Amino acid sequence: MSEVSTKCVQAGYSPKTGEPRVIPIIQSTTFKYDSGEEMGKLFDLEAEGYFYSRLQNPTNDYVAAKIAQLEGGVSAMLTASGQAATFYTIFNLCSCGDHVVSSTAIYGGTYNLFAVTMKRMGIEFTFVDPDCSDEELHAAFRENTKAVFGETIANPALKVLDIERFARVAHSHGVPLIVDNTFATPINCRPIEWGADIVVHSTTKYMDGHATVLGGAIVDSGNFDWSKYPDKFPGLTTPDESYHGVVYTERFGRAAFITKATTQLMRDLGAMQSPHNAFLLNLGLESLHVRMPRHCENAQAVAEYLEAHEKVAWVNYSGLRSSRYYELAKKYMPNGTCGVVSFGVRGGRAAAEKFMRNLKLAAIVTHVADVRTCVLHPASTTHRQMNDRELEAAGVPADMIRLSVGIEDKKDIIADIEQALAAI
Ligand SMILES: *Cc1c(COP(=O)(O)O)cnc(C)c1O
Repeated sequence: MSEVSTKCVQAGYSPKTGEPRVIPIIQSTTFKYDSGEEMGKLFDLEAEGYFYSRLQNPTNDYVAAKIAQLEGGVSAMLTASGQAATFYTIFNLCSCGDHVVSSTAIYGGTYNLFAVTMKRMGIEFTFVDPDCSDEELHAAFRENTKAVFGETIANPALKVLDIERFARVAHSHGVPLIVDNTFATPINCRPIEWGADIVVHSTTKYMDGHATVLGGAIVDSGNFDWSKYPDKFPGLTTPDESYHGVVYTERFGRAAFITKATTQLMRDLGAMQSPHNAFLLNLGLESLHVRMPRHCENAQAVAEYLEAHEKVAWVNYSGLRSSRYYELAKKYMPNGTCGVVSFGVRGGRAAAEKFMRNLKLAAIVTHVADVRTCVLHPASTTHRQMNDRELEAAGVPADMIRLSVGIEDKKDIIADIEQALAAI
């Protein structure tokens, strides 16, 4: 199976004769063994197998294997949410006293996780504009830097990350590049092909795509050679006393990162995805390659319509030639970017609120990236603690409307926008 579309439908699970055709939901917390000795081997990581669903569950592993193949990685794990995926990824590499370089253009929840919660754990972040010069990017690194983090397409700023450049600079400092690929999905961009080492997802968005289940995923490319920098990554290259001194890079090779995340972080923190949610996520994945082109086609039509409208002050969508990210988007996502468009209406905050009140088809929700068109005014909701000046600095101006274009008929979506604009 070589094509990403085929992998969406079939990768990760191949039943043997007489087994269920569809990924089964293994709704069991525990797994039975004939002897305690057998189970002991699992606890020592000497044998592979399931024993308790806080660590691993077959349903989740089938779905994780599909996502790993979609991204071109060697292994993957599911988490209860996108937030958990990002936290585990950083925490699997960093301890108190370590440092990470992150793009400023990231999801608000991720920014909070880094700048507030992980700071309290003694892990420091330096934020750099993804459009900064190479000199500025290099200058952000310190002796104790352990990773670089960015988003393929930033939520909600919609900036496109120059993945190849960020990977080159990260590698020149001996650290991995972690990319949140939630908005692009592996249908439109596979960051590992451009040098990213680890990919994270909020599967809550397009991967599920139906706004039914929260979830996250971590995919390891298996390409980063941790053992080359033993002083930087002692957690992977020196004995883990909680498993009788196993050294992850020696025992698990290219699967070292995900194995450590499973055996230490899932074991101790337990942000497991429920097998039932993994089953629903898989239903979403089976049509991801059909939905994404439609999201992109509709978003392109909406962006062009908005750009030509006299009541619209500005439109931000990297599929428009007017976008400063048009060329980067063409390079990394030649088949389209995502279904999220942001724009401002003339008349500022008040006009934006009135416009949204008048929408009929598009619903006001705190969500993006599902089949139904939805809309959010960040200044009065997710970013309402900020004043207008702070909003401007965060790339979220007060008049900004974030529209997540669904897969309905674009004629109906545009007609809804048209009547709502006419009312202001
Ligand atoms: C939503 C989102 C997250 C957080 O994911 P949850 O599943 O809500 O925890 C992380 N990154 C991006 C880009 C997102 O859009």
